[in-house]
This record gives sequence, C-alpha cells and structure tokens, in this order.
Amino acid sequence: MFIDTHCHLEDENFSADRAEVLERAKLAGVERIINFGSTLQSSVAVTELAKNFSELFAGVGIHPEEIDDFDENSCAKFAELAAEKKVVAIGEIGLDYHWEKDSSRRLIQQKIFIAQLDLARQLNLPVCVHDRDAHGDTLKILQTEAKGLRGVLHCYSGSLEISREIFKLDWFIGVDGPLTFKNSAKLP
Ligand SMILES: [Zn+2]
Repeated sequence: MFIDTHCHLEDENFSADRAEVLERAKLAGVERIINFGSTLQSSVAVTELAKNFSELFAGVGIHPEEIDDFDENSCAKFAELAAEKKVVAIGEIGLDYHWEKDSSRRLIQQKIFIAQLDLARQLNLPVCVHDRDAHGDTLKILQTEAKGLRGVLHCYSGSLEISREIFKLDWFIGVDGPLTFKNSAKLP
C-alpha cells in the first residue's frame, strides 16, 4: 500500500474537484493520505476532511511561516482536535529561515516549535518537521527538546552529515519532489 504522508488537500485549490483528486490517487495505488495543517483554521479543515473521507488522515500544527497564528490557547485547541482518532501527527511544525530573516522572529519560531514538540509528547503523536534553511537550529532543537519523540524531517534539504545526526535520534528524513529538480545537487 502507498501512503502519501504529506499533502495539503484542504487547500481551496482542491475545493472544486477534491473527490476526483482522491479517486485518481486511489487508481494510482495511493490508499492513505495524511494532510497537514499550517494554521489553526487549516488544522480544523484537515481534521474535518479526515472525518469525511475514509482514506484521509490529519496532522495539526502551526507552520513556522504562520507564527502570528499561534497564541497561548493554540496547544489546547490542537489537543482538542487530536481527540479525533484520525489525527495521527503534529505538524507541520519547525523552522523556516528562508522566508524569515528577522532574528527575533526566528526566536519566536523556535519557541513555538518547542511548544508543539512538547504537545506531541503529551499526546504521544509523531511529528512532521518543516526545516528550510534552518538545519543547524532544527538539529539542535531535536537533539535537546525532542527526547522520546519520533518523526520525520519532510522534504529534507540538509547535508548528508546532518542527516546522519538525524538518524542517530532514530528520526527519518523525507526525500520529496526537489529530488526531481534539474538543479538538485546534494540530494541525489
Ligand atoms: Zn507541507
């Protein structure tokens, strides 16, 4: 069975033909799909989709580009969503220094990332991590704050050396679409 472990089918781009997209996926042998939220609103949306389609599952969390969506109630709200048994992960969470150049906002990303790692530990759920141009800090946080947690760095773009450190933690990397890019250098 193929399981697509990282989709965003809650996106409004799929509003018109979501059922057909799922049908085509099934014909191609993809029998399970995990959609990840990026905000509270999209986390609610992926949870609702998981309730409505047997092949869909959900991950909930705040994406590092969406930190303004995070407040002191966010983790409680995600815990509420995770009471639904088809919520199978916390994500996508992590660090994105590609789009965020401001050092104080990068620190906020780190705090929110750590808070959501704690939530994953409380809920005993695996984690999907987004790491873009933040490999050093992501690794450091996983080494110090992710004890007892398991998960994947999706769409991995770090070095071979960092991947070896990730494997020491018994975490996984996802090798995704960028592998097919003509200018893909390190990934192959
Ligand atoms: Zn994603």
